[in-house]
Order: sequence, then C-alpha cells, then structure tokens
Amino acid sequence: MTVSRVVTTSGPEETEAFGEEMARTISPGDVILLEGDLAAGKTTLVRGVLRGLGGYPDDSSSPTFVVVQSYSCNEHGITVIHHVDLYRLPDEVDALREIGLEEYLLDEQAVVVIEWPRPALADFIGPGIPVRRVVINRMEDGKRRIEVLPVRTEVQ
Ligand code: ADP
Ligand code: MG
Repeated sequence: MTVSRVVTTSGPEETEAFGEEMARTISPGDVILLEGDLAAGKTTLVRGVLRGLGGYPDDSSSPTFVVVQSYSCNEHGITVIHHVDLYRLPDEVDALREIGLEEYLLDEQAVVVIEWPRPALADFIGPGIPVRRVVINRMEDGKRRIEVLPVRTEVQ
C-alpha cells in the first residue's frame, strides 16, 4: 500500500473485517502503529488482522493489562503477531526495553502491532524497518474513521 487509505466503519464487525483485509498487505518484519483514543477500535482492528493472518482471535482481548500478547499465525511467512499496548507504560526508553521490545522487533517472521505509540519508540525503530501508522477516530455519529498511512521506513 503506497497511498493512504481511509475507510469508515459502522460497527466492530466492520472494523474487524477491515483489519482482515489489511492483513493481506502486511509482510514479515512490519511494524504497525495504532493511534486513537480509548475505545476507538484499535484492539478490534488487531483482532481482524490476526484473523486475516490465519490466527485465532478468540482470546485476543485488549492486552492493556499485560502490555504484550503474542499470537501464532500462519500466513505470508508471518508466524506470530506481537500485540503491544503501551497505554500504561511511561514514555521512556527504559520502560520499553524492560518489556523486551527490542527482541520483538528483531523477530523477522513477526509483525509487531503497537497501540498507543510513544515518542520513545523512535529509539527502537531504526531506519529500514517498515512502519505503518493507522489512525482511528470516533466520529460524532459513533462510526469510526480509519486512516491507513503509507508505509515508511523511519518514524518522524
Ligand atoms: P481500543 O483498543 O481502541 O481501546 P477496542 O477495540 O477495545 O478499542 O474497543 C472498541 C469499542 O467500541 C468496542 O466496545 C466496540 O464494540 C465499540 N465499537 C463501536 N463501533 C465500532 C466500530 N465501528 N469499530 C470498532 N469498535 C466499535
Ligand atoms: Mg485496546
């Protein structure tokens, strides 16, 4: 995907279905940064991505309390999704190091999906790592606007 793409979803099922569709454009080693307020639908989208990659999303609840949850999958050479939720962590390099972020990012057959990306991430995501931002906004009518930005190889 080289241009940004915007969709509007009317419910969690549609957001999940969009995640499933997005999964087709994901490659091993990709990093996805998921931005959006609480209850925007970030975890819902991840559930769809996981399903699209042949994983089992039934237990993919929000990892907010455990910070990282890893799910096996089996599609396009991707064997695992590391689902990271930084909501409760301080924006500090040490905190990210402590959760083992470096190791997750070095996992060449993995996709790392990060909810609540923080500036401290820049220390971990070096040049050459394909990063895609996804921004979810809740609109006045309750629908979600999901914008998938083009893949970049550095964080600004
Ligand atoms: P986040 O991870 O961003 O905090 P979740 O995916 O955990 O958000 O939760 C989103 C909540 O919003 C769920 O309760 C879901 O049912 C609800 N919801 C309503 N409409 C949508 C939509 N279009 N897309 C995603 N979630 C929606
Ligand atoms: Mg969440």
